[in-house]
Amino acid sequence: MDTILVVNAGSSSVKFQVFSVEGEGNLYRRIKGQIDGIGSRPRLRANGPNGEPMADRAYPIEAVADVPAAMSVAGAWLREELNINPVAVGHRVVHGGPDYANPVLIDHGVVGRLERYISLAPLHQPHNLAPIKTILNNFPALPQVACFDTAFHRDHNALADHYAIPYQLHAEGIRRYGFHGLSYEYIAKRLPQVAPDVAGGRVIVAHLGSGASMGAIKNGKSVESTMGFTALDGLAMGTRVGQLDPGVVLYLIAEKGMSISKVQDFLYRDCGLKGLSGVSNDMRELESSEDPRAAFAIEYFVYRVGLHAGMLAAALQGLDAFVFTAGIGENSASIRARIGERLAWLGVVLDPGENAGHASRISRFDSRVPVYVIPTDEELMIAQHTLSLLVNPKTHDQKHERVS
Ligand code: ADP
Repeated sequence: MDTILVVNAGSSSVKFQVFSVEGEGNLYRRIKGQIDGIGSRPRLRANGPNGEPMADRAYPIEAVADVPAAMSVAGAWLREELNINPVAVGHRVVHGGPDYANPVLIDHGVVGRLERYISLAPLHQPHNLAPIKTILNNFPALPQVACFDTAFHRDHNALADHYAIPYQLHAEGIRRYGFHGLSYEYIAKRLPQVAPDVAGGRVIVAHLGSGASMGAIKNGKSVESTMGFTALDGLAMGTRVGQLDPGVVLYLIAEKGMSISKVQDFLYRDCGLKGLSGVSNDMRELESSEDPRAAFAIEYFVYRVGLHAGMLAAALQGLDAFVFTAGIGENSASIRARIGERLAWLGVVLDPGENAGHASRISRFDSRVPVYVIPTDEELMIAQHTLSLLVNPKTHDQKHERVS
């Protein structure tokens, strides 16, 4: 059985999934696993396709001290205990910089280029690249594919792609990239099945998870995003600040004496829902909290989704459908209901029963703008890209690659 391994590596966890390739390139999810607690309390957990447990093991800290070690442990488990030898590995890589508008087959040259983007995503890119390098060294013949969170947005027009800064800085790569592209791409692919009448139209997708952003999609293509140069911009997130006057950053440095790394830590880890509420970064905890600051944080989140919907509707010059996805978007009927109220002026009327039942279409029959809940699947997207590059390596590697 041919299999594809999908890897999503962060600073303290490596998530992985195994897909089997069957028939005419159909993909079936076989294993969903992760090693978390890297460098603190490492633990391998994995489940089968119906959630059945396959592994739950703790490791001593020195056995899984970093991401490459975690990759080796997961790889050994798959090979030695399950006899799984993937035909290719697909990786989630947060930043493709200005160069990559599509997934790419990895070689040492590509790794070198992607390392240049570490400064654009210092908290993510090095961890994404670590397992790629480990596999490249240990299994040089095994095809690996990098799939970028920025790629789906690379066709934004110049107005959406620029900041109002001198052109030279844009040429250096200071651009509004946008993120969560694999999620938006998956939703754009699902739309013709879920909502054929509007799939060719103007759609706002709200990817509301721990990281949250919204994207404007026109005829299946991304035209605008609430995120920009980094995954900090736009909506307030679990711990990330979202849209912020850059003057605040100057103030923190000049008046509060914060160092660059303190400011970075602060903006990524101590703001957003966590900073606002002082209670939690987790929407479930906020929803069940009695603390008025938790209620305020939720209200703020909903308000900002509404504001950004207005911005994206302006970019699209109208609105034909609205889609909720990711942890909060897929699971919280109450947040969806509140956002629905904020979108009433755009022509949204939710159906309370369908919304509470987590139906696929949650708007009322007479809502001018239909509203959908579509569970995202970034890993399937990565597996599909990896398979299509295996089958047709030249097309993707050369033709769609853009060099700035
Ligand atoms: P990420 O992939 O960015 O880590 P997820 O897409 O898994 O994030 O979303 C995590 C968020 O979704 C958390 O804030 C969590 O509280 C929220 N969430 C998950 N289930 C629910 C639920 N039933 N009600 C409200 N929020 C939920």
